[in-house]
Amino acid sequence: MIGIAILGATGSIGMSTLDVVQRHPQRFRVIALTAQRQVERMAEQCRLVRPQYAVMVDHQAALALRDALADMDNPPEVLAGAEALETVAQLPEVDYVMAAIVGAAGLLSTLAAAHAGKRILLANKEALVVSGAILMRAVADHGATILPIDSEHNAIFQCLPPQRPDGLAAAGIERILLTASGGPFRNRSLAELEQVTPDQACAHPNWSMGRKISVDSATMMNKGLELIEACWLFATTPEQIQVVIHPQSVIHSMVQYSDGSVLAELGHPDMRTPIAHALAWPERMDAGVPPLDLFAIGQLNFEPPAPERFPCLRLAYEAAANSGTAPVILNAANEIAVAAFLDQRIGFNDIARVVETALNRIPSEAVHDDGLEQVLTVDQQARQIAETIVAELSLAR
Ligand code: NAD
Ligand code: MG
Repeated sequence: MIGIAILGATGSIGMSTLDVVQRHPQRFRVIALTAQRQVERMAEQCRLVRPQYAVMVDHQAALALRDALADMDNPPEVLAGAEALETVAQLPEVDYVMAAIVGAAGLLSTLAAAHAGKRILLANKEALVVSGAILMRAVADHGATILPIDSEHNAIFQCLPPQRPDGLAAAGIERILLTASGGPFRNRSLAELEQVTPDQACAHPNWSMGRKISVDSATMMNKGLELIEACWLFATTPEQIQVVIHPQSVIHSMVQYSDGSVLAELGHPDMRTPIAHALAWPERMDAGVPPLDLFAIGQLNFEPPAPERFPCLRLAYEAAANSGTAPVILNAANEIAVAAFLDQRIGFNDIARVVETALNRIPSEAVHDDGLEQVLTVDQQARQIAETIVAELSLAR
């Protein structure tokens, strides 16, 4: 039996993971579930899969969860606080860690899983964006494995040759084609975007996801974060990655080879496919996803992204080309801006304004060799400055 810890169990990826795992009770055992503060959903999940540990980051929520599970025989041990995320990520009985916390809040637990040599199923792209060098080194040094859950990166992983010791070029790879749906506002003018609401931004045409990544998809910051994520996962540079808008989200990304071949992975826009792929790898197993009906789909379209309509994508390309702390600043400012937009304190186009102003106000510095403290400090500093910029913009509204 393979032991699993699901970090961010109550979220969109967490719930899809539980769906897949429950289809294979002979193969997987859930050791730990974690959430920030959703007590009801966590209590339901605990009754369903009977984990040994349940972590609530919020202390009040942990007390409430203990109460909610008081009548269970053999209830899970309820742990409280952010440090407990690291504890469960390193348990000896845990083989695989699903890293599905949203934002840089998932960084330390993902890093803890790497230090303990686990198989990391990485959904939490922000961890890699802010600490790519540190995380990839920890994975290599401690014999951990990272398998991408992000659908694009999972597709690229499937289209790459298994061994590529000297980088992509030596393996005959010319480019990675990173597909993007273009989000719900693909055809809206920048002027129209000034007025859009959080609910409109979260209504993604193809994928059902948490609110933060849904807003990132609408601004295309998601694709920007994915660009940086791909650079780390596949040891490549931003110039070797082309973003391709593909509104149907049937192709999840492609790899172009020097002989003219382009390999693609196709499927329903259903995260259970990459989750099942990473859980079973190198084997395959049922994900509960129906077969793809190409006749019903009919056609696949492609177009280049319009940089002037998606300033967040441009900012991410610039940050990706910067070898210093620019990606940390980009991510922190974006997290603050998205939260402010969801709270209706700033408008949709202000998200890019906050990120760009933060990048202009904070100088990027080279990342030290053992730079975790530095990354955490820059992250906090960028959050504070981004909050100031949000306050300035909301006053001006
Ligand atoms: P979500 O908002 O639905 O769920 C987030 C989970 O993280 C919840 O369980 C929540 O309790 C927990 N969490 C939130 N803040 C936390 C904190 N400060 N400390 C500890 N736990 C916290 O998000 P999601 O859509 O499932 O996305 C999770 C991650 O996966 C994100 O990094 C996202 O970019 C990535 N991802 C998601 C999808 C998708 O389809 N949803 C696709 C690709 C990648
Ligand atoms: Mg993605």
